[in-house]
Amino acid sequence: MNTPILHAQNLQQSYGTLEAVKNFTAEIHAGELVGLLGPNGAGKSTTLRILTGLQQPTKGNVKYLNYDIADSPIEARRQFGYVAEQPMIIPYLTGIEYVEFVAGMYGVDGTTAKKRAEPYVEKFRLTGAVHKRADQYSHGMQQKIALIAQLVHEPKILMADEPTVGLDPDGTIEMQNVFREYVAAGNSILLSTHLLEMAEGLCNRVLILSRGTLLADQRIGEDWLKSHGHLQDYFFMLTREGV
Ligand code: ADP
Ligand code: MG
Repeated sequence: MNTPILHAQNLQQSYGTLEAVKNFTAEIHAGELVGLLGPNGAGKSTTLRILTGLQQPTKGNVKYLNYDIADSPIEARRQFGYVAEQPMIIPYLTGIEYVEFVAGMYGVDGTTAKKRAEPYVEKFRLTGAVHKRADQYSHGMQQKIALIAQLVHEPKILMADEPTVGLDPDGTIEMQNVFREYVAAGNSILLSTHLLEMAEGLCNRVLILSRGTLLADQRIGEDWLKSHGHLQDYFFMLTREGV
């Protein structure tokens, strides 16, 4: 198989005596849309922060293609986009200025950034809003702009921490369509979510975390769903065991 776009090896994160992430190992390849699932406190956000280099793990390493995020942070960071749980967009810039600003950090010029952003802006029906200052945006609009800003540098993998929180039903569907198309174009996505029904329809693989332990790394194609039933049942079977 080709070199995975993301390779996380034996990640471990301790906070004092709490082991928030225990021995997390996973590879993600081109074309995979992977859901990172788990109850509150399972370690999803911690894992994503480690994967994006925002946090150094107690142990373990993370590679994007052949770039280790600790040894070659600049090359590694060029490979991914990350939408955090709380989108951090800049209040005194307009939406499109923010997108250009982020694109600029990745060496994408303003004209190219605008051109690449346009189809997303249309899909999210933000055509009027992108010229308004971001401090006038709803949480959902900020979330969408934060996503667009992370897509215009065309990362090989997009990671997003509960990206649909605060979106209305239309926004949730639009975002899923954007994710599907992005992956169909040969990229990968890793997203954490509590929406198991959405994950079942959207993802082709799920990672299920509970109390820091990766309980399952499962492809969930049509055949798997036929023989196993709904993802939700599988999720509860794993995460409620021994409770
Ligand atoms: P999730 O995103 O799955 O809800 P988190 O990764 O946010 O889980 O948290 C995993 C565990 O680590 C939780 O018990 C949480 O309270 C704890 N935790 C997260 N961040 C910190 C921190 N900075 N310091 C101490 N404990 C933390
Ligand atoms: Mg979280």
